[in-house]
Amino acid sequence: MRTASDLLGEATRAEIFGQVLTAGPISRSRLASRLGLSPSTVTRLLPALLEADYIREEPESGPAAGPGRPQRLLRVNLQRHLVVGVKIAPSVVTGVLTDMGARVLARAELQIDGCAPTTALNGAGRLVRRLLAGFPQGAERALGVGVGLGGHVDAVSGICRYSGILGWREVDVAGPLAAATGLPVIVGNDANALVVAQRWFGAGRDADTFAVVTIGAGIGCGLLIGGALFTGSTGLAAEFGHIPLDPAGPACNCGRRGCLEALACSAAVLARLRQVGLPQPDIEAAAALARARPAENGETAGFDDAPKSGEAAEPAVRPAAEVRAARAAFAAAGDALGRGLATLCNLINPELVILAGEGVSVYDLMRPAVQDALSHHAFSTASADCRILVDPVDDDMWTRGAACLVLRATVRAPLLS
Ligand SMILES: [Zn+2]
Repeated sequence: MRTASDLLGEATRAEIFGQVLTAGPISRSRLASRLGLSPSTVTRLLPALLEADYIREEPESGPAAGPGRPQRLLRVNLQRHLVVGVKIAPSVVTGVLTDMGARVLARAELQIDGCAPTTALNGAGRLVRRLLAGFPQGAERALGVGVGLGGHVDAVSGICRYSGILGWREVDVAGPLAAATGLPVIVGNDANALVVAQRWFGAGRDADTFAVVTIGAGIGCGLLIGGALFTGSTGLAAEFGHIPLDPAGPACNCGRRGCLEALACSAAVLARLRQVGLPQPDIEAAAALARARPAENGETAGFDDAPKSGEAAEPAVRPAAEVRAARAAFAAAGDALGRGLATLCNLINPELVILAGEGVSVYDLMRPAVQDALSHHAFSTASADCRILVDPVDDDMWTRGAACLVLRATVRAPLLS
């Protein structure tokens, strides 16, 4: 059985790999100082990574080397293995093939009919085989497959315990996919995968305690606390979207009422507008209404010049009451999000919250209400301590994050081969 000290060593080894990846080539002493570790800790944890050839230590070369005995520098052996990262979403499976640094070598996408587990996992298996077949000795060089999906994932067993967005309960993801590909499969919550990606090559590079909050059809969250991904006792930590905020609030995807997600996601904004007789086809249309100029006395509501081909019509002037209602709907969502963020800040005192996902395209309409609610409800300096950063993250970031789950699991406890 692994002791607490073993686990701490494994987490630190993953941090060492991540730091060499992002800051390398780097000397041992600089690595130790950047991570706040003693040189002896680096000396104890590094050999397994060197012996597995995940990291190499070579003399510095080139003009920077200078006179005298060359300094030895650590760098990730990017060519050591290939890694596949997959994201499963309703009706689409996307994937990337990466090197040992999670740099994208190829990408693929597969539309699927719905998201029944068998359909999605068969699709994911085909996608992985297709990605590996396109690369010389792809299958032989592959380290494993990482899978990210929205929901409660037990990473140890590879089972999705529950996913509201996919409609899954107790679905074995790792077993069928490992059988279909012949590779080890690591499954994780997609927001947790984003945390690892942000830590290794995103905005979280220099933050030891941060949260990634994803906003879209649902609201997800992943936490890095004191440099380590925090997933809780069974993998469902940071279900930020289901913080109960209003017992009399609208029904949530999870079957309860008044969760943050039910108050702040796109559907909540659209539902509020429906309630006041202003149904909108989608969140973009609702945002366009909220961004319109309210008609002044006697002015007729209308549209700008005819849109150029491929452009959506931008309403220039809309009835004042409609614009106010749309802005109020976004503000209500922002207020709920701000109260949720205050809870998060009070609990873990993060130095950074990264807001990510397609929903951040309308965050400008929520920001004032978010800030008001956050500063009103945050304890002591919790709000001032926390920087909020909006990062739409491209599609690759999700799948690269899934690949990072494999890399992270591998470098924590390298198996020598
Ligand atoms: Zn809920």
